[in-house]
Amino acid sequence: MLSRKALQITPSPTLSIDAKAKQLKNEGKDVIGFGAGEPDFDTPVHIKEAAINAINQGFTKYTPASGIPELKEAVCARFLRDNGLTYQPQQIVVSNGAKHSLDNVFSALLNQGDEVILPAPYWVSYPELVKLNEGIPVVIETQKEHNYKLKGTQLEKALSPRTKALVLNSPSNPTGQLYSREELEEIASVAIKNNIFIVSDEVYEKLIYGRSEHISIASLGEEIKKLTIIVNGASKTYAMTGWRIGYTASELNIATAMADIQSHNASNPNSIAQKAAYTALTGPQDCVQEMRLTFEKRRDYMLEYISHMPYLTCIEPQGAFYLFVNIGKTFSRKFRNIHIENGDHFAELLLDHYRVALVPGRGFGAPEYARLSYATSMDNIQAGLERLNSFLKELD
Ligand code: PMP
Ligand code: GLU
Repeated sequence: MLSRKALQITPSPTLSIDAKAKQLKNEGKDVIGFGAGEPDFDTPVHIKEAAINAINQGFTKYTPASGIPELKEAVCARFLRDNGLTYQPQQIVVSNGAKHSLDNVFSALLNQGDEVILPAPYWVSYPELVKLNEGIPVVIETQKEHNYKLKGTQLEKALSPRTKALVLNSPSNPTGQLYSREELEEIASVAIKNNIFIVSDEVYEKLIYGRSEHISIASLGEEIKKLTIIVNGASKTYAMTGWRIGYTASELNIATAMADIQSHNASNPNSIAQKAAYTALTGPQDCVQEMRLTFEKRRDYMLEYISHMPYLTCIEPQGAFYLFVNIGKTFSRKFRNIHIENGDHFAELLLDHYRVALVPGRGFGAPEYARLSYATSMDNIQAGLERLNSFLKELD
């Protein structure tokens, strides 16, 4: 018999939709994937060269479990430059992607039954990672009129004696929304008053559009910095999803606990990928700017197109690379005489009949929505949206 933990876990819907779309493509089927949030760009050449050099120089052995000193120093330098935050290298833990970093955080913080507050819509892996670490996810619905962002008053209401942490994700996957300084201050003051940790997932920090500005909640003052564990990584900023490099910055005791945990369950992240990440963080940054501008053009195109589609509505994302679209008006309508029952059914019909993959909202705690990633080429976007539009026009 499997463990209770194993029995209650569900596979990542973002990864499984991506896998399904990739499989159909490999079978020669013409599928357009708006599924996984994975930059479609190749990893920049100078980063790949750093990895090739690492191999040629024989940098292919175990490293310190929580990462090589030069990479930790580079991470500290970036926190200082980008967020005005001072950390020492011992406060940094480098892991196998930000997902692994999050797992380390929950493993280090949670006792059985501890509650972790998740503002919905949330990224699909948060509740599962909390449960895997014996915590209880406590979901708070955010409101559209607040652009799906958590209010301090909502946080206050959701607190219980078992509340251990809040997960904050700005810019957000799936909504693309960004918290302003004032909004973060409101949340920080509740967290400080009640002594709860903030797990601040900032992996989309560099992918911001228009005039919006990313602010790390840890930068609002010493008290909130002590309670914050920042999670970041190379996947999104540098198109390095497959390399698996994520990192955290936190108080020393938390970092030490996470490093110790990782020393037993993973050892070091890939030595070659660490060298590549070092070059990514310290090398030229124009590649990031180029990718960001491309994402922004795609975002604008999609927003405009979707605003003319029947049934769908969405708010403008300020960051990340997703549109979170309300598809609720299609439920109970008919596609070729089949009643659309829910978001999963919508996604299934769209994939089967129009070969377009998107992620239904259930896994994000928002069943009336669907997520479309614009981390795919403009040609794909144009063709995919045309198909989606034709699908919608068939509904009655
Ligand atoms: N956080 C968020 C909000 C994400 O969307 C993702 C997905 N890539 C991750 C963390 C994990 O990223 P990775 O493990 O590839 O660093
Ligand atoms: N985070 C990305 C997404 O939300 C990649 C898939 C995953 O890590 O779950 O699509």
